[in-house]
Amino acid sequence: MSLLSHAVDHHYRLSPDESLDHISIEARLAPGISALTARNGDTEMLASLTDCNGKRLRASLGHIRLGADQSCVRYDYPLRRSSQRVRLADDILVTSPSEWLWIPTLGEGDRVLIELDVPETLRVSVPWQSIGSGAFALGPSPQSSRSNLVLGDFRNRTVPLPGAELRVALLDGPEQTLDEDKILSWLEAAANDVAGVYGRFPNPSPQVIVIASGPGRRGGSGSAVPFGHVIRDGGEAVRFFVNNDKSLDDYLGDWTATHEFAHLLLPYIDSRQKWISEGFASYYQNVLLARRGVYSEEDAWGRLNRSFNRANEIDDPPSPNNTGKHPFWEVRMLVYWSGAAVALLADVELREMSDGKESLDTVLGRLQSCCLPSHRQWRGNEFFAKLDELSGFEVFSRLYEEHADSRGMPDLTELCRKLGIKPVGDKVELLDDAPLVHIRRSIMGQTRS
Ligand SMILES: [Zn+2]
Repeated sequence: MSLLSHAVDHHYRLSPDESLDHISIEARLAPGISALTARNGDTEMLASLTDCNGKRLRASLGHIRLGADQSCVRYDYPLRRSSQRVRLADDILVTSPSEWLWIPTLGEGDRVLIELDVPETLRVSVPWQSIGSGAFALGPSPQSSRSNLVLGDFRNRTVPLPGAELRVALLDGPEQTLDEDKILSWLEAAANDVAGVYGRFPNPSPQVIVIASGPGRRGGSGSAVPFGHVIRDGGEAVRFFVNNDKSLDDYLGDWTATHEFAHLLLPYIDSRQKWISEGFASYYQNVLLARRGVYSEEDAWGRLNRSFNRANEIDDPPSPNNTGKHPFWEVRMLVYWSGAAVALLADVELREMSDGKESLDTVLGRLQSCCLPSHRQWRGNEFFAKLDELSGFEVFSRLYEEHADSRGMPDLTELCRKLGIKPVGDKVELLDDAPLVHIRRSIMGQTRS
């Protein structure tokens, strides 16, 4: 039951056929719905569209049009056409509901309740919230990318975490079989990095898709996890492409999963302000790998320093808020590290003002309690104002005002002096006699004072 009296539920039944050729859909809609859309759908594919009495319905210009007496709709949609271009073992299909799930516009609190009728021979992985056996709920979401529904012969596993569980789909490649123990150990470690920020994972049950791919797409560097990204479309999901040839140690030393899971500490923020989400995730990837003991304290600060230096080398840099107007490759380092610098400044200031009682960790914990997972897109200034409201200190909005619309990187010289971080080229020397050494250490999980 929803707390919002005007919120409505629509009831859908989805029946994929055993050969993964098409999906049959029946939609029983709340009264008063005049149109259905699928954001990446094609009305040409809706040849079988009827109401539930078998009367033909019209679809055009991206909409299924409904008359006042029509609240039940049936259609088949071809799945092979909509399959995503991912090379997988033959009997696995990755498809995007944004192509074949034609739904009404969802207001706050509205839900599409989905009954999934999958042949016993098939496994399924979905991004939606589970509300019972074969039953799922889909609400409004930021639609940051296309969600994935996976069907076929693959392994579904669960990774238990504090306050949450990962729903993991392991997708083998045409020639690669994923080593389940290795993959699950790696995911558990990375998700626990993020759960350690405030004692629980930010999303109670995200979908995680792991796809076996060949070695290194990241500039041929041959990392264990060449690519990962977060998808927030009907639920939160994280998708990884991995190189199964790499050892468990290679996986545990790779920052990609910690970075991607750290994105879930924040709501989806305006895509023109990627510097905020990328910045916080990039800050935490270093902090959390230090807390796990993968990086030494010196190594973690050295990595941050090196990245800040690269971001400072951009000629004629725009402000963080204006990076979205430039080609990404030109401003990439500024997108990732200006926000990391702001996260660091805020973290240090909160710890200093509260005598170590507050930190970026504690404030993000309160954000999770009040507001995550969030079904909508946030504006950058709104996000920073919320963090101030939750912390009781005016730290974030002030930092936003100082840096969001100022060109280039924040100046960290004074901060580094106070923390006892002496940059020496791309490396750092850590000094023991600076005023905020205790804060520097506690950020990276070293001896607390
Ligand atoms: Zn990222």
